[in-house]
Amino acid sequence: MKQLVILSGKGGTGKTTVAAALAHLASQEISIVLADADVDASNLELVLDPTKQKEHDFMGGQVAIIDPEKCTACGICADVCRFDAVISGDEVYRVDPLACEGCASCFYQCPEGAIRMEEQQAGMWFRSDTRFGLLFHAHLFAGQENSGKLVTLVKQQGRLRALDTEAELLLVDGPPGIGCPVISASAGADMALHVVEPTVSGVHDLERIMGTTDHFGVPSLVVINKADLNLARADEITAFCAGQGVGVVGRIPYDTVVTEAMVQGQPVTAHTDGPVTEALQGVWTRIKEQLLSKEEVQQ
Ligand code: SF4
Ligand code: SF4
Repeated sequence: MKQLVILSGKGGTGKTTVAAALAHLASQEISIVLADADVDASNLELVLDPTKQKEHDFMGGQVAIIDPEKCTACGICADVCRFDAVISGDEVYRVDPLACEGCASCFYQCPEGAIRMEEQQAGMWFRSDTRFGLLFHAHLFAGQENSGKLVTLVKQQGRLRALDTEAELLLVDGPPGIGCPVISASAGADMALHVVEPTVSGVHDLERIMGTTDHFGVPSLVVINKADLNLARADEITAFCAGQGVGVVGRIPYDTVVTEAMVQGQPVTAHTDGPVTEALQGVWTRIKEQLLSKEEVQQ
């Protein structure tokens, strides 16, 4: 089983469009499992129309809770809290759960034993059926952190399922950017496909994200989305990749059919046979050549 993670240095570059198209194309040839690791904005489900089979709570970090019956309003907890999460009152103190970082300093310092630490539900994760294979995905609640932990959970569930079912490919739609969730999504991947647009910041974003995946020993491929909107920039990206020894596996033209397909809840490759689909078919062919053995493709 091989693991392909799809990344972009920033959001809105067409990463999920590419992920959905590859899910559609790959599932016609091999058995796949899907993981939407963009838990802050899980858009893959908008295109794959999943039917939820199972849902689970995701417990994030802890928060402090003050028992008003025991609190004597001594103020020690407010003094030790470095996050200004304790709100003082005349008779009792209380904790703002959105500001609390769960460090537990107040819990250890309260002379009355009035503070307890409680785990908070930070989101949900799901196992769903799609017409292209099982999808593991999640929703992180607004204002919650720990998205790296939820990314790891979603990806691990996908990986276990792929191993159990002897699937040939785990396809991970990764989070945008270069932060902790990207590292979680990339860990253990056999290949990263970077989706980049030919913009001023395109090369810079690509350089940063490839720096992250290189650091973790994950080989890169690049696809340039909306390449025809700025051919000079697209050439600049291609030259940069050549200098890094990284293959550009396709240039996808700009086309409004991509938005039309999204609105209809379809991968663009299932929606139309135009130049965008041809470009994405080429991308899938090149990924297969580099990631999967001949035996895996023929199965
Ligand atoms: S340290 Fe304990 S007793 Fe003192 S204000 Fe905080 S919760 Fe109340
Ligand atoms: S757990 Fe830490 S962050 Fe939260 S209220 Fe107590 S001292 Fe402040």
